[in-house]
Amino acid sequence: MNRHVVILGGGLTGLSSAFHLSRRFPEALITLVEKTSRFGGWISSERVQVHDGDGRTAEIVLESGPRTLRPNAKSVLELIHLLGLKNSVITTPITSSAAKNRYLQIPETQGLITLPNSLTSVFSPPMRTLFLPHVLREPAKRRNRPDGITDETVDNFMTRRFGPTFARTFGSALVHGIYAADSRKLSVRAAFPSLWAMEDRGWGSVVRGALLPNPTDSQEDYDVGDIPDMMKGVSVYSFIDGIGMLPGALATHLRNQSNVELLHDNPISSLIVADDGQLEVKLSSGQMINPTHIISALPLPVLDGLLHSNSSLPHLTASPASSVVVLNLIFPQTQPKLHPSGFGYLVPRPLSGYSPHNPGILGTVFDSCALSAQDSNAANFTKMTVMMGGPNPITPSHTEVDTVLKQLSVHLTAPDDYLKVLPEPIYTRTQRHDDCIPNPMPGHLRRMEELKTALAKGPWSGRLEVVGAGVRGVSLGDCVESGKRAGESWTC
Ligand SMILES: Cc1cc2nc3c(=O)[nH]c(=O)nc-3n(C[C@H](O)[C@H](O)[C@H](O)COP(=O)(O)OP(=O)(O)OC[C@H]3O[C@@H](n4cnc5c(N)ncnc54)[C@H](O)[C@@H]3O)c2cc1C
Repeated sequence: MNRHVVILGGGLTGLSSAFHLSRRFPEALITLVEKTSRFGGWISSERVQVHDGDGRTAEIVLESGPRTLRPNAKSVLELIHLLGLKNSVITTPITSSAAKNRYLQIPETQGLITLPNSLTSVFSPPMRTLFLPHVLREPAKRRNRPDGITDETVDNFMTRRFGPTFARTFGSALVHGIYAADSRKLSVRAAFPSLWAMEDRGWGSVVRGALLPNPTDSQEDYDVGDIPDMMKGVSVYSFIDGIGMLPGALATHLRNQSNVELLHDNPISSLIVADDGQLEVKLSSGQMINPTHIISALPLPVLDGLLHSNSSLPHLTASPASSVVVLNLIFPQTQPKLHPSGFGYLVPRPLSGYSPHNPGILGTVFDSCALSAQDSNAANFTKMTVMMGGPNPITPSHTEVDTVLKQLSVHLTAPDDYLKVLPEPIYTRTQRHDDCIPNPMPGHLRRMEELKTALAKGPWSGRLEVVGAGVRGVSLGDCVESGKRAGESWTC
């Protein structure tokens, strides 16, 4: 029988699955089905034209989803090489202030504090008290992982090793920045597997484990050309027209493959294993496809809603997902500057916990610093992105531009070199993303193993694979990697 693979969902995971499957199985037909009119899922880059009051104009890239990639994800470097995207890459060097300077905004205080970026900076206030003692004491602390536990929350883990103040200040801020989630609920093993591994490697100490050599993954089957040379000394990168260039290039490439068909504006309405064992993918247009294999790159709860009771799968609704509001702001350039130079800042969990009385800001990215090469005439404008929501209960009044600007001026108030009152922005855009980042809870890795076992037998018998942000990591690198590995166990 000729192989026909249907890929459900045209986000980055679905597109990279289609890319790799069409190469691995050139004789197979690959059909990718996407609900909306565009491919890329949460990736959404747009170039807007802006004007200031003095006749200056610029064309500025706005991201409403992911904005940066890290060079350690080899699967993405491979796509850059194979799709010919090298000349579109723009990088932030590790030596730049955007890479070196990251800040925290401690709730109920004014201004920003600088996160340690050098040995001397950890000895300066306030890191001398907030950071240094907890990190110095940690290697001397006895091994304290309770016997038999196989997972715990990020907050538990950090509290065990570094104490509650450190866990709330740094752990919660880190989790806000990546998962827009509550560190007291997120699985440390699923969200930050390297932390758990460092504790193992360091005989109970994370700091000791971080200093010891890390036995790296031996799987090195990436066709990356000379892209790693280009990434030497790079902290983060994107593309000249934003992250959207990656799904854009994938979709263009796939459209030119004779063994691939891309369907958009085509929601999948159900997924059935018929009585005779045949797989049926029903589209809401009424079309039915009978593939030999299926890759689901859908959010897990969406997949759950498509399954018939005779072929249901475990744990698809076990992880909740964060909802965030993304506010893009463009200001005219000012003297002094609006903010210190750096990547941006994160806001830790308030001491009093999450409440509608708090402003609800998770963090702000100083886009103009990190990726100004994306924008024409960038020197005349300042671009920032504010992330709100996640575990913070927010209402529409929290996200009104005036309310956010008042809060930003509290965050950006500093004694010296930047402005105390923000000017009127010349462009604003507010977007709400519901259930956009999966939050793996403790026990997630075990549940995903059980899901894999269930897929291998019963009605699916290995013919359905489930991949994507909800399974093994939410970063773009994780998503491309899971697409690369999709269908690897299907022989010939
Ligand atoms: C605001 C934000 C900022 C982020 N920042 C970063 C960052 O800076 N760096 C980073 O590495 N990661 C970042 N991430 C995470 C990363 O963007 C996501 O984890 C990743 O894009 C998820 O890709 P995916 O393909 O697995 O899922 P999705 O993007 O969710 O794709 C799923 C696709 O399935 C489609 N679909 C849904 N239902 C159906 C149906 N019934 N039929 C057909 N199709 C359907 C959807 O329309 C969608 O296109 C960010 C995420 C968000 C939301």
